[in-house]
Amino acid sequence: MKISILGATGSIGMQTLDVVRTCLPHAKIAALSGFSNIEKLSPLVEEFKPNMVWVPDDASASVIAGLTRNHPEILTGEDGLISIAAESDAEILVNALVGRAGLAPTLAAINAGKNIALANKETLVTAGELVMRLAREKKIKITPIDSEHSAIWQCLNGGTISEVEKIILTASGGPFLGWTRDKISAAKASDALKHPNWSMGAKITIDSATLMNKGLELIEAMWLFNQPMQSIEILVHPQSIIHSMVQFIDGSVMAQAGLPDMRLPILYALSAPSRIKTDFPRVNFLEKNNITFETPVIENFPCLSLAQHAAKIGGTLPAVMNYLNEWAVGQFLQDKIGFYQISDIISDAFGIYNVKPVISLNDITEAEDWAVNFIGGKKWQQ
Ligand code: NAD
Ligand code: MG
Repeated sequence: MKISILGATGSIGMQTLDVVRTCLPHAKIAALSGFSNIEKLSPLVEEFKPNMVWVPDDASASVIAGLTRNHPEILTGEDGLISIAAESDAEILVNALVGRAGLAPTLAAINAGKNIALANKETLVTAGELVMRLAREKKIKITPIDSEHSAIWQCLNGGTISEVEKIILTASGGPFLGWTRDKISAAKASDALKHPNWSMGAKITIDSATLMNKGLELIEAMWLFNQPMQSIEILVHPQSIIHSMVQFIDGSVMAQAGLPDMRLPILYALSAPSRIKTDFPRVNFLEKNNITFETPVIENFPCLSLAQHAAKIGGTLPAVMNYLNEWAVGQFLQDKIGFYQISDIISDAFGIYNVKPVISLNDITEAEDWAVNFIGGKKWQQ
């Protein structure tokens, strides 16, 4: 199996390489991409010897070119990232990029006939209709890396899509579970970055704190499993042991459980339907003997209801929401805006945006351009 990994230096990218190193001895790495962290990328290029490497600019390219042991083709710039997704000789592309940067390489890889192991949920939030349609046309498999979607996919082995009554999408609740709204409103990025169960990149960690992550995952699940919003229930399960469940029409429920370890869904996305033996830690149910469920406190997490609204309306609205969320999370991470300004920005935009149907990629580009202008026309400072 030949694999390319976009976003190799990130949380999912590094864990994917760990899975390749420890569980898939016959896999070859065809291409890797990094971004700002060239010191992290260089040893990966030396170890895995990909034929193609992507870095953002010429300065980083010369660092990679200076590595003595192998001489990969080095590409740069936005077009280069698209080329590497399409042109490497990999059969499967692991998309571990963060944010909307993941969309164009995914489309290019599908067009080039590559299967996709998808961590980058923003791809489906922004353009789920286009991506899934193209994947169907090109007979491409999109296998989920997101732990909840991996769980749902595994539970679906227990029946067919037409026998599904509902999907139960579980959420850890994030670092602000149980906090009052006043306390949350004073939270800084450093508070939001303390996730109780998962160690992840900064953007998804903030999305977990606002519960936007669960909203993005709702939209991701609707596209991946062709389900209407009403058949997906969100339940907070603070222990993160049950990664999601599927209830079938006979009332039977399948659940997928495991420790919160992203290497499990990454491995399954690359090996399914086979299971590969690992020495990863196992769940001890005698220790994890307090597994609980509750409904999300929606008043404290307005991003979740905004995402539910976007899921219901559809068209270009999720792309606008995704763009504004990504921008606002970036501002919050620099302590330039407050926690609830993330949702305020999205909510203000929803109040004036005219939603359009998504016919082509051009509709997404126009929606994102609208979001850029919207941000430009406001002063979002505390
Ligand atoms: P991360 O920030 O740790 O890594 C992102 C990677 O993308 C890095 O290699 C970075 O260099 C690269 N990158 C960032 N911006 C880029 C750009 N503009 N162009 C090219 N490369 C760029 O993020 P992560 O936590 O690994 O998350 C990656 C994706 O997986 C996200 O969509 C996230 O929602 C999803 N996901 C992550 C986890 C997790 O446990 N980390 C779990 C489920 C889903
Ligand atoms: Mg998830």
